Amino acid sequence: MTMTALGEPSVLLKLGEVVLKGRNREIFEMRLRANIKHALKDHRVDIRQRHGVIALFLPAGTEVEEAEVVAARVADVPGIVLVHLAWRVAKDTDAITKAAIELIRDSDEVARKARFAVRSRRRDKRFPLRSNELDRVVGGAINDTYGLPVDLSNPELTVHIEVDKDEAFLFTGGRPGQGGLPVGSSGRALALLSGGIDSPVAAYRMMRRGLRVDFLHFSGIPFTTSESIYKAYALVRNLDKFQGKSRLWVVPFGKAQQSIKNSGQDRLAVIAQRRLMLKTAEEVAHRIHAEALVTGDSLGQVSSQTLTNITAQDHAVDLPILRPLIGLDKTEIMAEARRIGTLEISELPDEDCCTLLAPRQAETRAKIEDLKQIEKRLDAEDLAAQLADSIQPYKLDV
Ligand code: ATP
Ligand code: MG
Repeated sequence: MTMTALGEPSVLLKLGEVVLKGRNREIFEMRLRANIKHALKDHRVDIRQRHGVIALFLPAGTEVEEAEVVAARVADVPGIVLVHLAWRVAKDTDAITKAAIELIRDSDEVARKARFAVRSRRRDKRFPLRSNELDRVVGGAINDTYGLPVDLSNPELTVHIEVDKDEAFLFTGGRPGQGGLPVGSSGRALALLSGGIDSPVAAYRMMRRGLRVDFLHFSGIPFTTSESIYKAYALVRNLDKFQGKSRLWVVPFGKAQQSIKNSGQDRLAVIAQRRLMLKTAEEVAHRIHAEALVTGDSLGQVSSQTLTNITAQDHAVDLPILRPLIGLDKTEIMAEARRIGTLEISELPDEDCCTLLAPRQAETRAKIEDLKQIEKRLDAEDLAAQLADSIQPYKLDV
């Protein structure tokens, strides 16, 4: 097998907070490698742990396009802050220099004689040249070959060289990862997923803090169409790229909503139904060993999200309700939804189950005593258990 001067394509992953984990670091890194392996199950890659970075080795002769696909895919896996498509060459000054010259040959920057810099670092300190010596050797060769001016303070092109245990890596650019912690390192949660914009973003945020997230959607069937279920399914399918093995359950909620409506108390209907959703979710959470619920609430956004009403929801269950969007503006939530790819799905039309019960005026200061009255008449605890029995599962893994 002959290697070209450029070497073999590989992908270098820089880890985020995982590196702050002290003695737990080993466990976090193992979790991250398992998540990467799962995300890349359709690709041939060899995952190598290097000091502080993970290197994905692609088989000899892999096309750059395939390496790009791998880099883009792995950039979705939480726990990684930077992804570099890198060239792997022999750990030898001459090989590194030749590869650096090859690496930038066809670039814009060479064509327009842009200002450049070489930045080396050695993860293996036994390498004969020190970093700044290697910078000078490679920089000198680039300057001789292409006549580019060196600019160490504000370069337009940076050639990065990382000398490792058994090889050196070269790259010029990179893409940001998701940051955060590996999914699964913080436990499991159950997200209440509507067809709206907020709840998918909330679920994403909690995945990025290391939670494995399963999903529960309440549908108004038999009084609404199934559109909201298709939307929930499409949302979970999209979010699955961040964690894999996602699970969605749908609760047929129409009849329970009807009972709430019939219980009088129009102004309290929305908050009573939200409490019933939470009680049902808590029941499901116990069955799947989830330790928290996640919602897309944002303070003051709608009448059910006043401080009083949020408190009334917290009182409905014992499990903690995580609300990662509580302090965000709608525009910020929308920007994130666009970035993670859920916005277009959320904006599709559907018949939200909540519109079944939209009162003329919703209560913004719901009293827990009044809610408990309604719940007594409904036999809410029993109803929640029955609803949890009626869930329909959808398994996803794409
Ligand atoms: P979203 O955009 O997520 O629908 P929203 O701003 O419309 O949120 P609400 O409709 O008050 O606000 O919902 C608040 C939260 O309650 C949602 O973010 C979601 O977590 C949960 N929720 C609401 N409706 C449903 C539903 N049909 N199924 C599951 N969860 C729901
Ligand atoms: Mg909504």
